[in-house]
Amino acid sequence: MDPTRFNRKAKPTWCPGCGNFGIQNALKKALHALELEPHQVLLSTGIGCSGKISHWIGAYGYHGLHGRTLPVAIGMKLANHALTVIAEGGDGDGYSEGMGHFIHACRRNVDITYLVHNNGVFGLTTGQVSPTGDQGFVSSTTPAGALERPFHPLALAVAAGATYVARGFSGDSERLAGLIADAVRHPGFAYVDILQVCVSFNPAKSYKWYRERVFDLNEEGHDPTDRAAALAATEPRADGRLPTGLFYRVEAPTLEAGLPQLAGAPLAERDVAGIDVSPLMEDLV
Ligand code: SF4
Repeated sequence: MDPTRFNRKAKPTWCPGCGNFGIQNALKKALHALELEPHQVLLSTGIGCSGKISHWIGAYGYHGLHGRTLPVAIGMKLANHALTVIAEGGDGDGYSEGMGHFIHACRRNVDITYLVHNNGVFGLTTGQVSPTGDQGFVSSTTPAGALERPFHPLALAVAAGATYVARGFSGDSERLAGLIADAVRHPGFAYVDILQVCVSFNPAKSYKWYRERVFDLNEEGHDPTDRAAALAATEPRADGRLPTGLFYRVEAPTLEAGLPQLAGAPLAERDVAGIDVSPLMEDLV
């Protein structure tokens, strides 16, 4: 297989040094390692700098409304469950506008992967504090410093019933590629929060800043099958270190497994020529 098959000719317009480049590289490496072909992969992306990734990965892509990447991705998976469906967006998109969808996706356990480019700021709209921005963060909407405390999405994901919860770092593309591939292999809703550098609107959290703090939780003996330990691992550390790796994984039936309509060929491939929809239309119109 050609490792460049997920490339596109168009060049990304992200700022030079943006962490999205590392995420894009990691995603392409993961898809290559999974031996997928471009026609087998569908990206659903939200609004923000991160959402543009569907323009620059050589696969199917749909760039939708702000905060709605998850319901679109779930609809795609139910319509064609043979596809590998990856939802992607930023912390503003997913943890602000899309928060309700995030919680319900965790509990529904549809077999999709959700990658969140988490940089603590709305980058595309030039730097407003996001739900994961630090208290005191000075931005265009918080000129005297943000008063609100950041929330912790991994704790919420575990509590809401997600069956795969992980965190990666945009500055470690190799390790992130391994996490993404593992998340795609997981049969169920697999969520990966990615610490992403925004060099333009959150420059204090530089690559150096992150490298001094991130560490691999699993190398320190964390057991990802232990739910209580996973929740404890999501707590902020007194020393400021930032855990990455696999926090939690559990096997559970997917939503699709409970839908007899999806047994057999994907809905998108069924022959609908002989189906009479006029009674349904009469009922609806
Ligand atoms: Fe990347 Fe930030 Fe530039 Fe957006 S504004 S492209 S997130 S560096």
